[in-house]
Amino acid sequence: MPEIKRPVQTVEINYVCDKCGHGMMHKSGETNPTSGETPHKCMICGAEQVFKWVSYPRIDHIGIGEKI
Ligand SMILES: [Zn+2]
Repeated sequence: MPEIKRPVQTVEINYVCDKCGHGMMHKSGETNPTSGETPHKCMICGAEQVFKWVSYPRIDHIGIGEKI
């Protein structure tokens, strides 16, 4: 198979706090290597939430014009 290339754009993915609806969730501890649980904390209200195998904020790439 030949190499294929395409332009992409960089996006930042954030998660808005479910509790206050304003703050961004930030990773507040290490990911558990077996369960994938990753603690996060809201920067504004301090609400804590655990995400599995993902952390916020994070950087990803998507094709130009693609929806996130
Ligand atoms: Zn909050």
